[in-house]
Amino acid sequence: MTTFDITAIRHDFPALQQQVYGKPLIYLDSAATAQKPQCVVEAIDEMNAKCNANIHRAIHYLAIQCTERYEQARETVRRFVNAGKTQEIVFAAGTTAAINLVAFSFGERFVRSGDEIVVTEAEHHSNIVPWQLLCERKGATLKVVPVDDTGRLQIEKLPEIFTGKTRLLCVAQVSNVLGVVNPVKEIVQLAHAHHVPVLVDGAQGIVHEEVDVQALDCDFYVFSGHKLYGPTGIGVLYGKEEWLEQLPPYQGGGDMIASVSFAKTTFAGLPLKFEAGTANYIGAHGLAVAINYVQDINRTAAHAYEQQLTAYAIRQLSAMEGLRIYGTAAPKTSVVSFSINGVHSSDAAAILDKLGIAVRTGRLCADTLMQRFNLQGMIRASLAFYNTKEEIDALVNGLRQVQKMMH
Ligand code: PLP
Repeated sequence: MTTFDITAIRHDFPALQQQVYGKPLIYLDSAATAQKPQCVVEAIDEMNAKCNANIHRAIHYLAIQCTERYEQARETVRRFVNAGKTQEIVFAAGTTAAINLVAFSFGERFVRSGDEIVVTEAEHHSNIVPWQLLCERKGATLKVVPVDDTGRLQIEKLPEIFTGKTRLLCVAQVSNVLGVVNPVKEIVQLAHAHHVPVLVDGAQGIVHEEVDVQALDCDFYVFSGHKLYGPTGIGVLYGKEEWLEQLPPYQGGGDMIASVSFAKTTFAGLPLKFEAGTANYIGAHGLAVAINYVQDINRTAAHAYEQQLTAYAIRQLSAMEGLRIYGTAAPKTSVVSFSINGVHSSDAAAILDKLGIAVRTGRLCADTLMQRFNLQGMIRASLAFYNTKEEIDALVNGLRQVQKMMH
């Protein structure tokens, strides 16, 4: 294994120190929600306890402190994804909220009856359903890019999928089921060559990949704080300024206006136009602390460690009889989903749980992928840089027990 001080890293995460059912917790569900380092927990606690006042409104001390932290968090996010301007960073409740924002606002402005929106077969429900709702509202059509048996996105089909009526392509950087890293930069180039803008769902991607939205040249990029070792209830929409300027607001309320009268309301500039109501300033600050943590631990070493751990997990799991892994195409992040002959995924989850092992099972918010692979559900072990080889061994032993009990 690459030199990476796993003992020190694990020490940073209080949730990993606990026992469940009298057994050490083995947390293999980070793709759903990652655990938070102590510094994030403390940052949230400290703000809740002391630095709590509404932002962008009052001019008293606490309000100013909170506003500054919120706007500093925006700058931290901007640097993290290398956006050109802070106006291009909109805080939302998470990936789902950010996608719904674009689906509504972009849809209102640019989508008409007969138009087409393209998604892929490997999307999370969050990157399908908002587009379906938009298509229903507008009389547009949803088109789908297929994946092959290895989980590779068949991007060679894109030129035949795009037409003069295609308004947007929505694609995950990394599938939450397959773990396969999609060639987003290439996809964006291809789409732009057909005058199609691209929304990238970075919920899984940003956790494992260095993201540079300017280099990717994507038009929109979205992600959630809670998968990036940060708080729940906060996420980010990056949008190119020229797009965001053209979109109408998503929700109306306080903070998103310039002036209100019964005759006419005018809206705030970017990004506040899209941040109606009291923002989650504590979440934004917690996210910034999480981003700083991730950058401080040496991301390159963390990635290398995760990759080695993933390769080990795949080797060990592949050696098990009747087990099939989905998403075998390279490159792949540390999301490993599989099925076991004759074992229902929920039964496996229940048995593993009693051994202290947390995995995700079922349809993984990806019904269309379950249909693609003709399954009722999968078992997913998603690894983070705080997991260990010993935890993989425990998973494999646990699965052997599952097989014994079920057969
Ligand atoms: N997109 C992907 C690829 C995801 O993995 C997830 C969550 O698992 C989401 C979207 C939805 O994220 P959230 O529930 O944080 O809005």
